[in-house]
Amino acid sequence: MQKFWIKVLIFFLIYSIGFSQAIKWEEKANKMVNEQIAIRGVTDPEVLAVLQKTPRHRFVPDKVSKYAYNDHPLPIGEGQTISQPYIVAFMTEMLDTDSNHKVLEIGTGSGYQAAVLSPLVNHVYTIEIVKSLANSADSTIKKLGYKNITVRWGDGYKGWPKEAPFDRIIGTAAPPEIPLALIEQLKPGGKMVLPVGTRWQEIVVVTKNASGEISKKNVLPVRFVPMVRQK
Ligand code: SAH
Repeated sequence: MQKFWIKVLIFFLIYSIGFSQAIKWEEKANKMVNEQIAIRGVTDPEVLAVLQKTPRHRFVPDKVSKYAYNDHPLPIGEGQTISQPYIVAFMTEMLDTDSNHKVLEIGTGSGYQAAVLSPLVNHVYTIEIVKSLANSADSTIKKLGYKNITVRWGDGYKGWPKEAPFDRIIGTAAPPEIPLALIEQLKPGGKMVLPVGTRWQEIVVVTKNASGEISKKNVLPVRFVPMVRQK
């Protein structure tokens, strides 16, 4: 009988620790949205809500998960990083998504940016050049129950011809110049947001009008990992 009560006690202890941690990450996400993102000028309520609801700590390695909601990028292995929360929010807002959009992401990394886009669009296709990162992002995404994200291991310079054209393209690694294949795979009326440059980089918003003409606007100086070419 005593054993039974000890088991009940242990059950409740574990349950309440789990519960308090669940509250903790939501509070941290709330603070992150208010103190890092909204304050810097991201105003789209849908973008702020999705940043609030996405469990960023589940996308980073365990040893850095306590820093997941801090105001900086974090290492995710293989020399790569998950972008600072504000940059993710800013680029998502710039992408100007709609619920019927087919989106291509270059540089899956942890899968966090794809997860942030998932509730805002119809489908996210995301390409990662490092196989181990593609695999672990895919398993995180499946574990968390995202149904409209497809991860592929491959070279983003080529885009995803089989699924093209895309309403929106987002790049999260910096090429020295905007890759031609990505411009080609953008729908007329489409938009692409990506960092461009080598040592000096800026986020560029590329728009393609109905007749296929391109215009570009530099919107923010940044520092991203380079978009590398397949060896
Ligand atoms: N969006 C990611 C952050 C990505 S960091 C996230 O939310 O976590 C940039 C990623 O781009 C790295 O994982 C890097 O391996 C990948 N990358 C670099 N060059 C690439 C290329 N040519 N094609 C696809 N992915 C590439």
